[in-house]
Amino acid sequence: MPYFDHNATTPLASAAREAWLRAQDDAWQNPSGLYGAGARVKVRLDAARERLAPLLGCAMERVVFISGATEGANAVCAHLARTLSPGTLVAVNRTEHPCVLEAAKFFLGERVVWLEVDRHGVIAMGPLEKLLGVNAHSTGSGQGVGAVIVMAANNETGVLQPWRELAQLCRRHHAAFFCDASQWLGKLPAAGLGEADWVIGSAHKFGGPKGVGFVVVAEGAQDFHAQHGGGQEHGHRAGTENFPGVAAMVAALAEAETKKVLLETERLRWRETFERAVLAALPDVRVVGAGVERLWNTVSLILPHGENTRWVARLDKRGFQVSTGSACATAKEGPSHVLAAMGYSPEEARRVIRASAGWETVETDWPKFAQALAEVSAEVKPTEAVIKI
Ligand code: PLP
Repeated sequence: MPYFDHNATTPLASAAREAWLRAQDDAWQNPSGLYGAGARVKVRLDAARERLAPLLGCAMERVVFISGATEGANAVCAHLARTLSPGTLVAVNRTEHPCVLEAAKFFLGERVVWLEVDRHGVIAMGPLEKLLGVNAHSTGSGQGVGAVIVMAANNETGVLQPWRELAQLCRRHHAAFFCDASQWLGKLPAAGLGEADWVIGSAHKFGGPKGVGFVVVAEGAQDFHAQHGGGQEHGHRAGTENFPGVAAMVAALAEAETKKVLLETERLRWRETFERAVLAALPDVRVVGAGVERLWNTVSLILPHGENTRWVARLDKRGFQVSTGSACATAKEGPSHVLAAMGYSPEEARRVIRASAGWETVETDWPKFAQALAEVSAEVKPTEAVIKI
């Protein structure tokens, strides 16, 4: 069954599976144990940290293992709320994942200034630069922007944000930059992400297991606590460490970095060929974010007619698993906030489907999927209104 919902979650990569089983078999002891076996798990945990850090381009001391991106978003926003001087603003991209949006609203409340995106979903740099310009005149008493929150790649549309430029811009203006790299990691090279002050990632989005992730902590943020309790993770995150999960996550990312992301151009071509085929067969379809850089695996389509849930069900019957947006959004009411921020109407948003391929997707899956879309279109086409005389 061609699975086209990798942005929701991915199957376990073979390298991750092997690493998980090995760790579960021979390193299952508690790393806090004072006996040799416990200490050896602790050593392996730090070796995993040492292997992950250079992939991201940061010091290993900045890597803290957590349960996933949602925990990371909450912990970083809580930390910013606690440590930024009173009244300092935090600029937040409107198209962030709900875990970042809701955490920002909850912890940062009135300090949040929303950053708009353009019609294609890319952050508008001009207004941000203007906003950050205030920092130059700030007396440090709080009217400036203390932090900027922008994701690397959007989960619903695949649209890429200029995170490298954002990291530099924030540095110049003495604002912390927090980047949710959950959808970027494992698909595109991770190098340079450590330039951001704060980064979060979730293993199951790139072939690792569920329930494990990491946060890259800003340099010098000694008082960062994702959870309070014991002194694990060098005091940054209490709770017994999930070493098998961590080992599997790092193995998955290392494998993606060395063997998979190199294929990115070829995979992008497959998706582009698919988009051309769909537009030729169904000219009324619109590709969200067409014309700007997007993840090679993601395509978000505004369909010409019919509720998206009908399309999803009919595609499922044909063996194609797609979604109507983000996995989290489907549990909540209302049209996508991402599409709303891009200027789409709620009616258009109800006609959107997202397909997201993975590394195990083969080239022929794409034309088969295009064919299935054409067939489903004919099925859900509104019948001509019968005029009764
Ligand atoms: N950030 C982005 C961009 C995501 O796509 C997701 C998951 O859909 C998350 C954060 C949350 O990840 P998790 O549910 O693993 O905590």
